Parts: sequence; structure tokens; C-alpha cells
Amino acid sequence: MQTERSRALLAEALRLIPGGVNSPVRAFTAVGGEPLFLARGAGAHVWDVDGNRFIDYLGSWGPLIAGHAHPKVLAAIAETAAHGTSFGAPTELEVRLARKVVSRVPSIEKIRMVNSGTEATLSAIRLARAHTGRDRVVKVEGCYHGHVDALLVSAGSGVATLSIPGTPGIPDAVAAQTTVVPFNDLDALRAVLAAQGREIACVILEPIAGNMGVVPPRPGYLAGVRELTRAHGVVFILDEVMTGFRVHAGGAQVLYGIEPDLTTLGKVIGGGLPVGAYGGRAEIMDKVSPQGPVYQAGTLSGNPLAMSAGLANLELTEAPGFYARLETLSARLADGLAEGAAAAGVPVTFHRVGSMQCAFFTAGPVSDWKSASISDTRAFAAYFRALLERGVYIAPSQYEALFVSAAHSEADIDATIAAAREAFTAAARTRSA
Ligand code: PMP
Repeated sequence: MQTERSRALLAEALRLIPGGVNSPVRAFTAVGGEPLFLARGAGAHVWDVDGNRFIDYLGSWGPLIAGHAHPKVLAAIAETAAHGTSFGAPTELEVRLARKVVSRVPSIEKIRMVNSGTEATLSAIRLARAHTGRDRVVKVEGCYHGHVDALLVSAGSGVATLSIPGTPGIPDAVAAQTTVVPFNDLDALRAVLAAQGREIACVILEPIAGNMGVVPPRPGYLAGVRELTRAHGVVFILDEVMTGFRVHAGGAQVLYGIEPDLTTLGKVIGGGLPVGAYGGRAEIMDKVSPQGPVYQAGTLSGNPLAMSAGLANLELTEAPGFYARLETLSARLADGLAEGAAAAGVPVTFHRVGSMQCAFFTAGPVSDWKSASISDTRAFAAYFRALLERGVYIAPSQYEALFVSAAHSEADIDATIAAAREAFTAAARTRSA
């Protein structure tokens, strides 16, 4: 694979940008080698600056559920842009996107748009604190909610990938306000609520943990969290930045039949432009400024380009059979990968919920960060590199999800499975080395 242009760009980027990247997960720190600079995408494929083509399962880390450069999303952005890119005043597009989200997610009565998932979770926590008059936050080990001070404790995603225990720059007093419990462990949460319930403003978690690989909730876990938080007057924040409109037309909360107090969104609702949102019960949302006293604002919040990209993306998911097709494609991929791993004799635990999936290089079972974190990351790195060399791009970390989009064809999936057969064999060699 030719990588001269990427290497030249990286050399300059390293002089100008910390680590050469604008988000740590883009570096290939955990898998070795150097990140590729991407130049364009179309449907299920991306091309790097050297002209290499890849079947892409990163999907910009989740937003691109309909694939890259979807003509309808591009047309919506172009049409909106022709009338101006930002006003800082209300626009109809904001109402239309809010209407769509509220109509699809029953627990969301009111919603506020922000610019990223991080902003969404940080604002939701502030609101939960104001609503309850309590300070303490409970989060789940291995869940990632953006780079919010209170939530970078025992976080997933890049924090887990790079084995960063806590982050310098976060005051101890802030970190001390966060209690961490394991995923899928209702007893641990029950004990924390019993001991600290009156201090706890909120419990925040991902319904399907997607930042420590992919770890689905055990049956009854989310319903149990709902019950416990309600019993203690604690705000239940469901972080659906990744899962929202990804695993189901109404998000993971409709898939699993639970109603959180607040939901955070991002990724798919922005269609590849910078959008986040938080919403939920009107009684709580009405405390947000200017209706209420909880201040939260943004120069570019509800930006017209972002709103139109999000609307177009969501409209694409409303095509008949959209999620059913994703399910079929994603199952085909997971089955094929599992066969490849078995044939290569590599112990791999496969998890999949709809179009999110992950192959843990461990015999499993995997149910939380403790069981995920014993994965053989060296074997994963060999697998990753072998896939990349064969034209398949997945997230450069064991602890991230792989996303199937509606733009993937059966031929893409089958080509990926063929590449993965060889990649698992490469991983097997690393294990015995
Ligand atoms: N919450 C979850 C569940 C996420 O997966 C992410 C990003 N991967 C975030 C929050 C933060 O979103 P952003 O990167 O847009 O700030």
C-alpha cells in the first residue's frame, strides 16, 4: 500500500497539531503504524490521499448510517447553504428537526440542540444537578460520554484505548463528585444509591456500551436502572449519542422499552455535521434558560447546515425496510467474521446489536469493562493492520464499535469477510509469536 502522501501530511501535522490529529482516537497509537489521511468518501467506501480505497466501517465514528456523501444529505446541505450558513436567530429547520426527534423518541418531550455529544452530556448533567439540587454523578466504568470533566473518570473510547486512568487537568474535587459502577451490575448501583442516594443528581450510561467495544445490556439491566433511579429521585440520563437512531428508529430506549428522564444525542442526528442534543421530560427541560434558570447557550447551536444534514439523514432512515436491511447486512458480516475467527482458531467473542458490532479478542464472556479489558490487544492490532492492507477500514482500537451503513452492499460484506479470514490468521500468528 502506497502511503507517501499520508506520511508527508502526518509529518507536518505532527509539527502543528498535538499528535497530528484533532481527536486522539484517530491516531493509530494502539495498533501501530501511522494514520492515513482521508480524501473522500462515497457510499460504503473511503479513499486516502494516496488513492487507496477502503470498505469503511468507521462511518465517521457513527453518524454516517446512510454512507458517505449521500446525495440527499449533500443536496440538503447545498440548498441550505445557498441561503446563508448561520444566523444566530431561530430558523424553521430547528423546529423541523426537533419535531422529528420528539415524534420518534417518546421520552423526549422537549429538546435543545448543541454542537457535539460532549456538549450534550455536559449540559444534561448540569441540568440534572440543577433539577435535583444534588452534585454527585454516577457513571459506568468503560462508558464514554465525551471529554466532560466529571465523566472522564474510568472512561471508555480513547481513554481506555490509551490506558489513561484519569486525566490531568481535572481538579480532584470534580473527579471526587463522580462515583463509578460496573456495567450490567444492578447490585453495585443499588448499593451506591443506598449509600449516597441523597447526594446523587444523576446516573448516566450508554444503553449499549459502545466505547469499550460493544457490550449489550443484560436482560432487565436498563429497566432495573430505571426503577432504582426513580426510587431515589435520581435523574436517569441515557446517553444515546451513539445508539440514537442507529440501533432502532427510536433509539435503544425504544428497542429495550425504557423511558429515561433525559437523553443525549449526537452522531446520526447530525448527518456528519457537528450536532449534539439533549432532551427529555418537559418538567426538567423547562428549567433550561431562557425558560428556566439553567444557563446553556451556543453561537452555532441549531446551525442551519447541521440541521438540514440531520433532517436528511433521519429521513433516509425512514425509508421502508431501512433498519431491517441494516440488520441483515450486519448479521451477515458478524456471522462471516465469526466463521473466519473459528477457522483461524482465534478465540473471539462477537457482540452485535443491529448495525453496531465488535469482535473481542478474548474467549469471553464479555459483560463489562473488566471482562472486555483482558482482550488480546496485540492480536487485535495484527487483525486491524491485516484488514487495512486488504482494503478494510475499521476503528483503530479493540475498544470501539464497527458500524455497518445502508450503503454497504452484500458484495462489500463478503469482500470484508474474505479479508477478515486472512486477518484472523495474521492475528493467530501474533498470539503464538
Ligand atoms: N457519548 C457517546 C456515547 C459517544 O460515543 C460519544 C463520542 N464517541 C460522545 C458522547 C461524545 O460525542 P462527541 O465526540 O461528539 O463530543
